Amino acid sequence: MTANGSNRRPSNLFYQSGNRRPPVDRAEGIYIWDQYGRRVIDGSSGAMVVNLGHGNRNVIDAMKRQMDKATFAYRLHFENDPAEDLATRLTQFMPAGFDRVFFVSGGSEAVESCLKLARQYAVATGQAGRFKVISRFPSYHGCTLGALAVTGYAALAAPFAAMMHEMPKIPAPTAYLDRDGLTMEERGIRYADMLEAAIKAEGPETVLAFIMEPVGGASTGALVAPDSYYPRVREICDRYGVLLIHDEVMGGAGRTGKFLSGDHWPGRPDLVALSKGLGSGYCPLGAMVAPDRIVQPVLEAGGFLHGFTYAGNPLASAAGLAVLDEIERLDLIAHAAAMGEILKSRLEGLKARFPFIGDVRGKGLLLAAEMVADPETMKVLPKELNAYQRIVDIAYDKGLIIYSRRTRGGYEGDHFLVCPPMIITPAQIDEVMDILVDSLEDLAAELRLPVNG
Ligand code: PLP
Repeated sequence: MTANGSNRRPSNLFYQSGNRRPPVDRAEGIYIWDQYGRRVIDGSSGAMVVNLGHGNRNVIDAMKRQMDKATFAYRLHFENDPAEDLATRLTQFMPAGFDRVFFVSGGSEAVESCLKLARQYAVATGQAGRFKVISRFPSYHGCTLGALAVTGYAALAAPFAAMMHEMPKIPAPTAYLDRDGLTMEERGIRYADMLEAAIKAEGPETVLAFIMEPVGGASTGALVAPDSYYPRVREICDRYGVLLIHDEVMGGAGRTGKFLSGDHWPGRPDLVALSKGLGSGYCPLGAMVAPDRIVQPVLEAGGFLHGFTYAGNPLASAAGLAVLDEIERLDLIAHAAAMGEILKSRLEGLKARFPFIGDVRGKGLLLAAEMVADPETMKVLPKELNAYQRIVDIAYDKGLIIYSRRTRGGYEGDHFLVCPPMIITPAQIDEVMDILVDSLEDLAAELRLPVNG
């Protein structure tokens, strides 16, 4: 067998990438070893999941203790302490008033839960005409049909369009692309006001919610709106009785240097979707967190008509509880903020040598760099170069995992995300950067992109 997959046994799995990867052997900290003994740095925490790093003994021990007791007990038959304890613990990390937790097993499920709770709340409070959920383009909210209907990433949604109820989209606040003489703060207001225009155009009495990632994920490359955007969005939602849903699936659980990425700004949401870092890769886990004022009317009207079999199972809950304990014990949220500053300035520094890096953005350890043909105009690279995919493959071959997507709605544009586990040290950031620079050199040579001496 070889590392690139030739001579590998045929696979019955069809979710693997066409590009065969070596089988994993073990993982510890920020490193993963394959079965050929090669070590790679997990510079994207998987898919921005393993916030705590791999192989955390305290989490594993907590899971083992739970496994010796019970791994599953169905919620209609038993309550379980790990789920109760995790819910209580989670609310302590949340803004005041977010005191009701609904567990799920992943990000799409968390988003679906928010959409359905919002809808049932509207029905229960005499607003049954509200059903439209406005979202942004580009964005990613999940792969199930409800979450996909609010996802703004054409390449993923197109074949399923006929099966979904089309939901209104407004442009994501890509203020960094605008060349209009406005200040960033003025642009932030302009983008937020697009929400108001959409609500009015749709008919406010039909609009249920607005969903957004406070710090964008893979679809935008860690897009951060100007500060003015966030409170204005809140004001607009309040004005029209529209619920504000924050999708914190990627940005939540501390990665951006606050527990929620939305905590960086005023403009609190009504519902929050969490996953990825909450279970940190130790178990499939996600949650919707909601205030009592939204949950109670739904319960009084007969209950939430929604739920997943594995929700709140004792093993995943024990893992999540131990993850939160470790985040606190190791002060990882502050650490992510500090390491994020270092990593971001190192990424910014790449622009001098690689002028095709047009923008570096993000918060904490949710960071991305966008590659363009012209950094002045932010004109995209020719899409057939597939720069976003090539940089990932080149870095992988050199021992660094990074993550990438097309920037401009899935059609074109190239960015890569560097989102290592929150436990990363400054010396390990050096390791990441050494391989990244080397990879960018190779990319530039291969695609004939300019490099400064
Ligand atoms: N929402 C956001 C912002 C995400 O980044 C993702 C996954 O990448 C999801 C939702 C869907 O999560 P999952 O893949 O766990 O269903």
